[in-house]
Amino acid sequence: MEIILGKYGELALKGLNRNQFENSMIRTIRKRVERCGEFRVYTAQSTVYIEPLNEEADIDSAYDEVGRVFGLSALVRAAVCDKDLDSVCRTAEEYLGGRLDRAVSFKVNSKRADKKFPMTSMELSREVGAFLIEKHPHLKVEMSEPEVTVICEIRDSAAYVHADQEPGAGGIPTGTGGKAACMLSGGIDSPVAAWMMARRGCDLVCVHFQSPPYTGERALYKVERLAWRVSRWAGRVCLFEVPFTDCQISIRDNAPEDLFTVLMRRSMMRITQEIALKEECGAIVTGESLGQVASQTMSAIRCTDAVADMPVFRPLIGNDKIEISEYARKIDTFDVSIEPYEDCCTIFTPKHPRTQPALKAIEEAEQGVPGLHDLEKEAADNSVLKVIHFYDEDFAL
Ligand code: ATP
Ligand code: MG
Repeated sequence: MEIILGKYGELALKGLNRNQFENSMIRTIRKRVERCGEFRVYTAQSTVYIEPLNEEADIDSAYDEVGRVFGLSALVRAAVCDKDLDSVCRTAEEYLGGRLDRAVSFKVNSKRADKKFPMTSMELSREVGAFLIEKHPHLKVEMSEPEVTVICEIRDSAAYVHADQEPGAGGIPTGTGGKAACMLSGGIDSPVAAWMMARRGCDLVCVHFQSPPYTGERALYKVERLAWRVSRWAGRVCLFEVPFTDCQISIRDNAPEDLFTVLMRRSMMRITQEIALKEECGAIVTGESLGQVASQTMSAIRCTDAVADMPVFRPLIGNDKIEISEYARKIDTFDVSIEPYEDCCTIFTPKHPRTQPALKAIEEAEQGVPGLHDLEKEAADNSVLKVIHFYDEDFAL
């Protein structure tokens, strides 16, 4: 029988909260694998066991799903067998013989959680290694960098044989870190920022600003598809779509052109905060990175932060675009992000935005925009909520 083993990451360190973290992660894993067939999911000895209950259970897709569950630092598929030398040897050969045929070097590693097992780890490794060399005489034993490592784990319940484990999603389980309101554009950065917060255990409330008719339906659908890609990790994303055109026009018509961008960003921040408070979020998140564009200098950020009275997290502040793009590829948002649709931030943009705005000048200019706060309130009230789940096929394009 084949099974998936998930290894705890930081969870193992969580002391008193550990039960809560563990339960949360197990619930998430159960929900994710539900659609792949019948599985039993349980934990023992800082490991999650995901065990198919019949032939129909699709272990390939379950393994894929579990790879996106936060809280697991590593995962591996393993063969299960009886706890005796003979079974372990036979199982190692059946399960990994094909890989050993193609490899040049290998080693055997054993772990013995069940101390009643009659051999030490060293003895077990030696015996299994000798058995495998007999079957594959071309193999060299290589201790430092073997091509294949055969790992034999003797645990309380059974013995498990597997090759090297792969990295899991890391982080801490979703739902254990509170809610965060992420400003989600159609770009490369903000989906990565949202993903990073989800990896720190946050439930995601995403806020997207659109400016019809300057931005179209396709641009909105693009953002929904991005939210869905993030939901494949976070499980669920609540997406608020905010009609922002009136605020933008009012700022454009009543404030100096070179201050437009910062004023617009303050407006976005206030609306996001309004939604964040209603949704009981503890923080606002953006995908900003220092110096990337005119609105992301220290003084511009100071001007936008001045309107928020909850923490504003910018998980990408110190990353450069290449690193952020690597993350985006890894989490599978990149190809959607680079689709060329308009964003509300790219309309009405001044030719020469002020890069070092002074807070006082910004506040004065804002006073000159009549009824801006009412327009913002209206925008927040008229926003449309879409709840996007990892299993929603509608966005899976
Ligand atoms: P991204 O940062 O999403 O890749 P970008 O770099 O073009 O796109 P900026 O104009 O630099 O976006 O905006 C910085 C941040 O402001 C974004 O990371 C995002 O958090 C937020 N933001 C920008 N546009 C929008 C929008 N239309 N709706 C919601 N948030 C937005
Ligand atoms: Mg950006």
